[in-house]
Amino acid sequence: SGALLVLGLAACGGQGAGGTTDTASQQPGDLTIGVSMPTQTSERWIADGKAVKEKLEAKGYKVDLQYANDDIPTQSQQVDQMITQGADVLIIAAIDGTALSSQLQAAADKKIPVIAYDRLIRGSQNVDFYVSFDNYKVGVAQAKALLRGLGLENADGSKGTKTGPFNIEVFAGSLDDNNTHFFFNGAMDTLKPYFDNGSLVVKSKQTKMEQVAILRWQQEAAQKRMEDLLTSSYNDGAKVNGVLSPYDGISRGIITALQNVGYGTAANPIPAITGQDAEIASVKLINTGVQSSTIFKDTRLLAEQAGNASVAFLQKKQPEANDTKSYDNGVKVVPAYLLPIQTVFKPDIQKELVASGYYTAAEVAAGQ
Ligand code: BGC
Repeated sequence: SGALLVLGLAACGGQGAGGTTDTASQQPGDLTIGVSMPTQTSERWIADGKAVKEKLEAKGYKVDLQYANDDIPTQSQQVDQMITQGADVLIIAAIDGTALSSQLQAAADKKIPVIAYDRLIRGSQNVDFYVSFDNYKVGVAQAKALLRGLGLENADGSKGTKTGPFNIEVFAGSLDDNNTHFFFNGAMDTLKPYFDNGSLVVKSKQTKMEQVAILRWQQEAAQKRMEDLLTSSYNDGAKVNGVLSPYDGISRGIITALQNVGYGTAANPIPAITGQDAEIASVKLINTGVQSSTIFKDTRLLAEQAGNASVAFLQKKQPEANDTKSYDNGVKVVPAYLLPIQTVFKPDIQKELVASGYYTAAEVAAGQ
């Protein structure tokens, strides 16, 4: 029984990599990974959930995948339930980066490792790993894409043929999402020289993140804000030339508002509008010249990293990180694996999205 006791103690040990049982000696089929995703209203999260589930199931693990309808209490409850039902690892893409502290404490008490998926969970010690993209660089890439769309810069970052001044408006994502701050700061830092030399003008003067944020990244809210901007700041006949948009759903809301007042003709062209996620509806709009660009983040690669990190924790190992300094959640710096991003304009669709197998040629075809 002494030997058993020692074995038992060893099984409970492990730093960071946890679980009350010795997951390293268990069969994958006996282990469950709880995957908590924010919403099914955006295509990217459906793709993320599907990819994570497929990758882990292919290795023989059980996966409990839940979507929370962008509702914080629903997500808290789903995570609580995963813990009660014996999840061995949690992968969480939080709706509100600070709202899950008590769930994370419960997970830590049971030594269940927690992986923050794409969105950093803030204000908690109990986040063991972070998988994402370089979110500041996403913002930089969005700003560069806007400058290129306007002709102020070329694809290689050199000076473009146009000088402006151009009227632009800027949008940010949901303030409770840690990524919003990175996207916005990356973009605004990059646009600053152009504001300073007068080639870019935010006609509404709304340039603070708090003024331009869109709660829960909602398309309808973005449409409403663009409609309000058109009424309040462009009723003198001035035109909007460009819009910094952080996410394809927001971009589509902006586009609808502009089209409703007559933008989108040769005489009244649609402004250069950026995006993110390469959602299929936006890829079609890029194909037809309505949306200017998007930032593609390959969710297959992110799912793979989340899967690898889960397996490492289950085997009582530390997952491989490639960034151990950028993501301070307010309590600690969370080790991260960050993936590269890709700017997509119309000529890039074939190579980046079709040849890579992310979409079929039929899916990206315009007018389908
Ligand atoms: C993600 C983006 C996404 C946004 C809205 C962010 O946390 O990083 O890819 O566009 O949420 O869902």
